[in-house]
Amino acid sequence: MDQQTLFMSFKPTKTLKKRGTHLVGFGFDGTACFRKGARLGPSAIREASYGIETFSPYLNLDLDDTDNLYDLGNLVLGDSTDPEVKWKKGNQELSKLWDKTDFKKDKVKLLTIGGEHSISYAPIKKYLEDYSDLLLIHLDAHADLRDGYEGFHYSHASIIRRALDHFGNDHDLVQYGIRSGTKSEYKWMREKGTLQTSKDDFFSYIRSIPNERPLYLTLDLDYFDPSYFPGTGTPEPGGEDFHSFIKLMKILRGKNIVGADVVELAPDLDSSGNSSVFAAKVVREIGLLLTHSKLD
Ligand code: MN
Ligand code: MN
Repeated sequence: MDQQTLFMSFKPTKTLKKRGTHLVGFGFDGTACFRKGARLGPSAIREASYGIETFSPYLNLDLDDTDNLYDLGNLVLGDSTDPEVKWKKGNQELSKLWDKTDFKKDKVKLLTIGGEHSISYAPIKKYLEDYSDLLLIHLDAHADLRDGYEGFHYSHASIIRRALDHFGNDHDLVQYGIRSGTKSEYKWMREKGTLQTSKDDFFSYIRSIPNERPLYLTLDLDYFDPSYFPGTGTPEPGGEDFHSFIKLMKILRGKNIVGADVVELAPDLDSSGNSSVFAAKVVREIGLLLTHSKLD
């Protein structure tokens, strides 16, 4: 792995640490359908992170006040020209990393930065295996429920569908921010009741989750409105702003967040660089939530 440090608070490591919160970059964008560039996401977030504070005035928490933050660097995906080979290589690297680790028992947390949304597959699958009662929170402009897309079974447009392949009886899914999908994706979400369409209802739902319930957050950055966040491959008008995200973070602070991923920053699509800074701030807030929510 190629070692880099996010903020100065994350200590470089090659292995997972018990009770640690770990950052890992998975810069893959092989199945992107519209505009590529998310492979550069992890490095852009790391670079932008040097320009922002470690202290969050919103959560009143500082990354520097904790000693259990680790950085695993960016996964090395090899130089194959076949996107599927690269994607599999990344997943193999992750498997090697957590092979002997039970995330629940060892109280290990992972914050994966993409890359396109297909990189969330392996982390979500691992969390579903280790937490039989995991609630998956999906924030995105897109439903991501297609059964494969443009020949890729594990496409970024299918990530939630592929996660559902591994759902047990006590796993749950909630989706918010979705404003684009096929008729059949919408039909499925309405039938299963996974889709929240009003912000107030969604926030009330999150508040009502028992504090001990393990939560995994998968955040596709196109959740945000393209006027705030243009640096993403499939922008979709009508999204959330940073303030509503912070409100959500404050609600989640009392909950048991055990893992998360932040995906779909394509830094070169925003020449101002603001999207990368935005994403780094989002990563800071989620990193703070992860390291401060209780696992006992
Ligand atoms: Mn999306
Ligand atoms: Mn997505």
